[in-house]
Amino acid sequence: MKIVSYRDEAGGSRVGVVVDDAVIDATGLLRPQAGGTSAMRRLLEDGRPLEDILSGLDGDPMPLDDLRLDPIVPDPGKIIAAPVNYFDHKAEMQEAYHVDSLGLFLKAPSSVIAAGEHIRLPYTDRRFDQEGELALVIGRRASHVTTEEALDHVAGYTLLLDITMRGGEDRSTRKSFDTFTPIGPFLVTPDETGPLASLRLRTWVGGELRQDADIADLIWDVPQLIAYASSVMTLHPGDVITTGTPAGVGQIGHGDRVAVAIEQLGRLEVGVTSEGAVACPTKGATTGPRPPATVTPVRAR
Ligand code: MN
Repeated sequence: MKIVSYRDEAGGSRVGVVVDDAVIDATGLLRPQAGGTSAMRRLLEDGRPLEDILSGLDGDPMPLDDLRLDPIVPDPGKIIAAPVNYFDHKAEMQEAYHVDSLGLFLKAPSSVIAAGEHIRLPYTDRRFDQEGELALVIGRRASHVTTEEALDHVAGYTLLLDITMRGGEDRSTRKSFDTFTPIGPFLVTPDETGPLASLRLRTWVGGELRQDADIADLIWDVPQLIAYASSVMTLHPGDVITTGTPAGVGQIGHGDRVAVAIEQLGRLEVGVTSEGAVACPTKGATTGPRPPATVTPVRAR
């Protein structure tokens, strides 16, 4: 099943099921919940299997292209990210360590944007890069789960761009600016993705293919990431874990279009603007992990 988050004309949060190029509104099937949580969070927090909740689906299909999409989870409780989780990215960044020494880091939940929106670069004098990634959304509370149990806690998979300011500031700062986490466009349930190791991820900036990688090349695979994350912090429905980026990171700038795709998950594309950018108030530009000066062409790897 392919699920989408969107806004109605009054700005209300809704979820729908995608059938071909159309969407059927499923918001009416959700239990009411106090507070301002999104329809997607209400769906994930319901406790019943998604297919049971959505089995009552009826209604008129609406063209997908007519909808104003939301980030697939508009209000994630947390976004957990893997710092260096492909060997080719470790090499291009001249990093001494990878995920099994570094552990995980957090991106601000307020940094999410939807497909079709714009990344806003905050500074005129710093480098910003794209990182295309496979991400997963938690569907069932997880605490100290084993790798064997881990996938039972996944609601589905989606695409994520981990937009990054290069330099020596803490990762949680460099990757948490508002708009720095495009996520979506769909939540695809595990029965529709096929084996994760068979997925191929590609990222483009403008017409240039920058990243082309097999998910099978993750240093820590999805079950390992979930098991480890759940040993540090309790995972709740709607939490996002993003799995890290392969080689091919590179600079983005005003006017660029950035897209990441995995065939089974669709394509997430956003714009980039530096409108309103100012001088950076911190001094990390020349310290921290070093990205390559130019993008390594995909075919040369
Ligand atoms: Mn990343």
